[in-house]
Amino acid sequence: PPGARLPLPDSHDELRALAEEFNALLERQEQASERLRRFTGDAAHELRSPVASIRVQAEVAVTNPDPELSQETLGDILTEAERLSSLLDGLLSLARSDAGEVPPAEPVELVSEVRAAVGRLPAGAPETRVSNAVAQAWAWAQHGEVELVLDNLLRNACRYARGEIVVSVLATRSSVRVVVDDDGPGIAPEHREKVFDRFYRVSDDRARITGGTGLGLAMVAETVRRRGGRVQVGESPDGGARFQVTWRAAPVS
Ligand code: ADP
Repeated sequence: PPGARLPLPDSHDELRALAEEFNALLERQEQASERLRRFTGDAAHELRSPVASIRVQAEVAVTNPDPELSQETLGDILTEAERLSSLLDGLLSLARSDAGEVPPAEPVELVSEVRAAVGRLPAGAPETRVSNAVAQAWAWAQHGEVELVLDNLLRNACRYARGEIVVSVLATRSSVRVVVDDDGPGIAPEHREKVFDRFYRVSDDRARITGGTGLGLAMVAETVRRRGGRVQVGESPDGGARFQVTWRAAPVS
């Protein structure tokens, strides 16, 4: 049963050490299965809402003879289906990461990756300025991961920025860093630790309007941390959000 532990013998010998070791292992196992249980429950809960909405809308479309209304309803169904699809993509990507499927690290040049990611922003996105402190910065990471990180941070910045986004690339001998600053409402200190948790959103309403999944920053944090890098959130000079991602510098060959 959960919570069961080996009784510790009175002596301070190897047997006692072994029992302590064993109990610590049980503890870690229990924590891991508790995390998994919570994740599965949260995932089911998150998937339920777009599915329920698609179902209701489809019922409306089927029973309503007005073609204009069904057109609108179909549009809503499409939006929910897209949301469902990005949720599933996120879940699959986190599941692969949990299973330890990590592609080998390679040198990735951040200045060109940042420019490419800015180029992928949709038309009508807030003005995005790249302010390089360096001409090149080589991260010890993986190309697809860097794209995921930059796309997520820029997409979030676009959602919340009022006027401008500034992306900077910095480098030291041992590490390289991307900083994304926006001039939106920012993230209050009490939420900063938690925004990297799976499904966490600062305000449910805000997330509903923006159509987010609550998985983006969790994926960012996990891909960066498993390479020995760091993610941080703070305040930008304009009072908006500042996200910083630091990778280990690629070894020079
Ligand atoms: P979502 O898909 O909901 O955006 P994320 O994991 O990307 O999920 O972000 C988690 C939450 O962090 C968001 O719901 C939002 O409340 C907050 N957040 C993320 N980026 C920003 C930002 N640039 N400015 C303000 N709030 C942000």
